[in-house]
Formats: sequence, C-alpha cells, structure tokens
Amino acid sequence: MLQQVYKGWHYSDFRDADKFSEFYWLFSREAHADGSYQRRIDELAKPKGGAKQRGLFKGGYQPVDESFLLELADYRETLAKYFKKADISLDSAELTEFVQRTLDRLVFMRFLEDKQIETEVRVSNLGKSKNAWADFQIASRRLDNIYNGIVFKPLPKLDDASFEVDDDMFGDICERLDVLYEELNGCEATLVGFGSKAIATVRPSSSRGRERFSVAHEIGHWLIHRGKSFRCRADDLVQNYSANIRFEKEADEFASHLLMPTSIFRPAIKATNKPSLNDLQGIAEQFEVSMQAVSIRLATLDTLPIIVACYTKAGLKWSIRASHVPKRWWLRSQLDDDSFAYDVLHKGTPCNNLGKQPAETWFENDDADEYEVLEHSMPSTNGQVLVLLYLNDPEMFEVGFDQNLKYGRSNNARSR
Ligand SMILES: [Zn+2]
Repeated sequence: MLQQVYKGWHYSDFRDADKFSEFYWLFSREAHADGSYQRRIDELAKPKGGAKQRGLFKGGYQPVDESFLLELADYRETLAKYFKKADISLDSAELTEFVQRTLDRLVFMRFLEDKQIETEVRVSNLGKSKNAWADFQIASRRLDNIYNGIVFKPLPKLDDASFEVDDDMFGDICERLDVLYEELNGCEATLVGFGSKAIATVRPSSSRGRERFSVAHEIGHWLIHRGKSFRCRADDLVQNYSANIRFEKEADEFASHLLMPTSIFRPAIKATNKPSLNDLQGIAEQFEVSMQAVSIRLATLDTLPIIVACYTKAGLKWSIRASHVPKRWWLRSQLDDDSFAYDVLHKGTPCNNLGKQPAETWFENDDADEYEVLEHSMPSTNGQVLVLLYLNDPEMFEVGFDQNLKYGRSNNARSR
C-alpha cells in the first residue's frame, strides 16, 4: 500500500550537499517534531481511487460513536453512489438493502478476524487474488456455506457475477485500516497512516485482551487523529519521542469505550454488588479485555467509591480514582507491609477477596487512622500487583483539605 509513493536516494547522492540536505530534513528528528515529515509525505503523491483526506479529525476531538457514525455514513454514501453506477436500474429500496448488506458483511468479516475464528478471509486481503469486489463475492460464498445465516445469503443482483463494482472505491474501503501482528522494538503498537489508509501493527501477546486493547487504541488514533503516525506505549518513554500524551490518552479512552461500551458495561457492573477483583476477572473475560483495562474503566465510570492502583517492588506505578473520590486521600508511594498487596508481591500470599484495612495502611494523611477501607489485591503482569480500594466510610468524603500534605501534589499517575 505504501509502495505507491516513494522517493529514492542513492548513497552517492549524499556527496551533493543539496540532495543530502533534502534527505536529512525529510527524515531528521527535527522534521518529525515540527510536522514537516508529514507535509512532505502529503506532497509526494495522491492516493489512488476514492481515497481522500477529509480533515475531519485534525486536532479536534470527537466522541467515539460520532466519529464511527461519520465513518459509516461516508461508506454508505460512497457505496450507494457506485452501486447505482454499476446497475442504473436499482431502485432506492434495493440500494439501501445492498449497501446495508455489504456493510454488515464487512463488519462481520472483521468480527471473525478479531475473534480469530476466520483465518482465511481477511478484509484487507480482498483484492489480492482477483479484484476487491470479486474477492468479496467469493468470500461471501465461502462464509455463507459455513455460517448459513442471513448476512451472507446470496442476494439477486448483488451477488451476480455480472454486478461489477468500481475496484478502486471498494478496494479503498477494504484497505482503510489493516492490522498486522508483528514483533516490535520498544513499543506495543504502531500506526503508519497515509492519506485515508493506515496499517496498524500490534506486538503479539499471550493476552488477547492486551492485543485487542492495542488494536482498539490504534483505531482510536485512526478515527480521531487521522493523518498522523504513532508509536504507542514504548517501554522506555524517552524512546517514544513522537509521543503526545494528550493523543495517547484520547486513544486509550476511545479503546476503553469501544471495548466496554457504557450501555452494556454498567449493567454488568450493577449485577455484581460491590465487585471484587474476582468479579472483575469474570467481567474482563466477558469483554475480552485485561484486568487493568476493566478496573480502569470501572474507576472512570465513577459509580463506586474506588481507587485502582498498580505497585511494583519499586513503588506506585499508577493509580486512578473515581472522580468523586476526594483528591486529598494521598496514596502511599511504597506499599505498607501491613497491606495485602505487600504480601501478594513480596511473599506470594494470595488475597482471596475484599478485606478490611485501616486507611492509614494506604494513605499518608495524618487523619487516616480514623477510617477503614476495603482492599483486594492480586498479582498482575510483569511482577506488578493490582489493587482495588473501596472508600466505604462516608466521612472520608466529608473531611476538608489536609493542611499537612504538601501543596500542589497531584496523585494521578499516568495509566493505560
Ligand atoms: Zn497511541
């Protein structure tokens, strides 16, 4: 896909100062930093077919469902236009049905890819043996034989060999976002965007939940920050020189909402009265996400008085609290040896459920010895411990600002 646009240099060119400076300024760190790298790509050539840069998402933030609907509306309009071109006799009812059926099939194919149920048909491979539409028709036949449902059931006209749809347009829709699974150095996922197409590469993980979060994160970049390229979640932040924390947070938020939509996540939580980490594990399996992702989603949902935190032997890695939990409650930077989390991390002692703890085990505040909290901790990946705290005492919400804590300290570490 990216081979359509390239510019070559021979190493002997570098003796020529002008050519060298052209090369240098195209690939230098400075060019990356000031955005001229992207401008140069834009200048090189235009993508083929119906691809166009819509500029909808430049810098602006759009809610998940809004951007997805815009994307779908765009597909709908384009498909309808080209279907009518392919067969002028189609009436509007037929057009609507054909467009909807085509989108349903594409979405269902993507779903089968995501669940790793279907390994032969990949939407981004449509067009690799014949043309994209012919491949789509062949794939539809194959999947109809397997799944025998409504979606792939042949429709007169739409599935006829004589119905030929513009290949550039349809190929472009199929190629818009492809996901590859490949080893990556120093980051978990990348997005290389070009015009209205992009390739997301995700580092394979033994946890499908992590992989799915990474894919959803890149879809977020693709919908919200189109036209930019990303290296996401470098193990070493310094390496990740193109990192932009605001964009990363937006993509994380997008992923979290895409994988755990409020309308089904909230009832799942409600069904468990005061969920422990065991309950969250069940919900994580149900939504096919990691424990980290589900506990962060629970905190941001802001329905329960909780703080979620992650510690290593070196101390607090990140924490996130429901936004109605007062910021005055300042988490200890090192695990107290009375905490269950300490035993989980240092002694491997399992902690089976929520248990009472004096609040001073968890908070630095001088008045913490007056309250109790509930704690549940369990081992997480890479020698970390995941902690769920309930601030159940209503008085913890009523006390004022703690004068003894240093002014201006913020207790919100970065989280995924
Ligand atoms: Zn990212």
